[in-house]
Amino acid sequence: MADRPRRERLLTFLLLPAIIVGVFVLAGVMFRSSFQLEKLREQSVVEATLLLANEKADRLDKRIIEQDNTVRSVLDVSEREDFGSKWLESAAIQTPTVRAVLLVDYTLPERDVVAVASRAPGLENERFRRLLVHSMLNDMKVGAPDDELRHLHRSYRGQSYLISHWGVEHDGRRYLVVVWHDVPRIVHDLFPQLYADAQDAQQSRVNVVDGEGRIVFGPPLRSGGLTLGRQFETTLYKWTLNVTMTSAEELAAAVARRRVLEMTLVGLSGIVVIAGIIVILLAAARESKLSNLKSDFVANVSHELKTPLSLVRMFGELLQSGRADTEEKRRQYLQIIVSESERLAALIENVLDFAKVERGQAAYEFSEHDLGDVVARAVEACRVRAEREAVTLELEVAKGLPSVWLDERAIEIAVINLVDNALKYAPDGKRITISVQRQGGDLEVRVADQGAGIAPEDRKRIFDRFVRGKDATGKQVRGSGIGLALVKHIAEAHGGNAWVRDGSPRGSVFVLSVEIGRKQPRKARAN
Ligand code: ADP
Repeated sequence: MADRPRRERLLTFLLLPAIIVGVFVLAGVMFRSSFQLEKLREQSVVEATLLLANEKADRLDKRIIEQDNTVRSVLDVSEREDFGSKWLESAAIQTPTVRAVLLVDYTLPERDVVAVASRAPGLENERFRRLLVHSMLNDMKVGAPDDELRHLHRSYRGQSYLISHWGVEHDGRRYLVVVWHDVPRIVHDLFPQLYADAQDAQQSRVNVVDGEGRIVFGPPLRSGGLTLGRQFETTLYKWTLNVTMTSAEELAAAVARRRVLEMTLVGLSGIVVIAGIIVILLAAARESKLSNLKSDFVANVSHELKTPLSLVRMFGELLQSGRADTEEKRRQYLQIIVSESERLAALIENVLDFAKVERGQAAYEFSEHDLGDVVARAVEACRVRAEREAVTLELEVAKGLPSVWLDERAIEIAVINLVDNALKYAPDGKRITISVQRQGGDLEVRVADQGAGIAPEDRKRIFDRFVRGKDATGKQVRGSGIGLALVKHIAEAHGGNAWVRDGSPRGSVFVLSVEIGRKQPRKARAN
């Protein structure tokens, strides 16, 4: 039997951490799988975005190269007089971003432009020619030009240039054909055509940034995992095309929202679990304390019953055997028997009344009485015991007190309990004063002893059921711990209260108050 609480405690100490660990493991697993799911979804979005970015970047390369090929197909290098006239005829429609086509002689070391077909004004042509000869040709790094189509994308004096070029041979001479693309036109006409399609815009958002990260086209995009950049592979290779899937943005927002929700839910569940555990632990501690108190109570009550019973038996036997030879002795023995039986009856009554209070069945019978008379009767019931212990009981009832509604028997029990306690716990005092007086709207019964008093920390809790004061247990004074709980219950049923304060000059004063002028009993709290 003794092992049971230990086993239960062990179980509690193992079970509770196990529950907490379980909750956290569960939360962790949940987190992990949702995180992995998110990652997978993110990965698929990234793949889709990448595919889209590639396709979009390729669109531009394709358009430019298409135009280069158109130029290439219509250009006749031998027609030096009328260079590029055929191209110029259809230039605006077929090659809208090409400004000019130039022919550079590569045979001599001092390369120069030998023919030009242009849609640009003369001054600009001249400026471009100089730029081409002095800078671009060097940057193109073309040794002996072959006929492969190549591109140069570079900034000169803050302006971006795109050149397509390839080599041709004619009459034993090497030439380089240079196609000058109009970059501003690509940005203003071609980009919107390629990337600002309404249907596309619903699905994704696109911008183009230059080598320094400045936006050349399109809106600013949120940088991060779900915006993907891809350089144009062949033509505008210094620039980067960025793509964000609209669904990716929604996904990111949804993920962030869900994460907050999950965190909150996990946090709340954690709090609920921990709060639940605390409540269970407190309840268990309370229950175990109460159960200990109850065991003490049973032991104490049994002892309390046994002591007067053995006295009654002993003095009864003495009388029976005729060993009490004088009348005086016989009377004394009989008195002890009577007072011990009364004590026994009072204790049984206490226990029974307390049991009723515990079950919530305490019923009081109220009628109008003089409180002074009721208290006097209770004091009389204690007098024999007091005299035996050489203690004087003094009763002081104030004059002219109003009669009150009370349960006579209950008040008697309460007063007997208080006087009995004073006799038990203040044995050195020679006098116990019981007084009845008015205090505001209440009548108060005060029982003052000259004992050691009560420690301040005990003053409230001794009115709780089964609780016994430290000194009482220390000195092995027998008791059940229900007397004051009963007194408090009775006082509350009479609209009053019960409490204790220091006596003067020493001891303690227990006070029980009863409300004046109340006809209906108040429902008292069960302790
Ligand atoms: P019991 O007397 O059976 O222990 P009670 O409920 O009547 O139970 O009293 C509770 C505790 O209050 C006692 O154990 C004792 O410590 C303390 N007590 C009660 N009356 C007095 C008193 N007059 N002087 C000192 N302590 C007291």
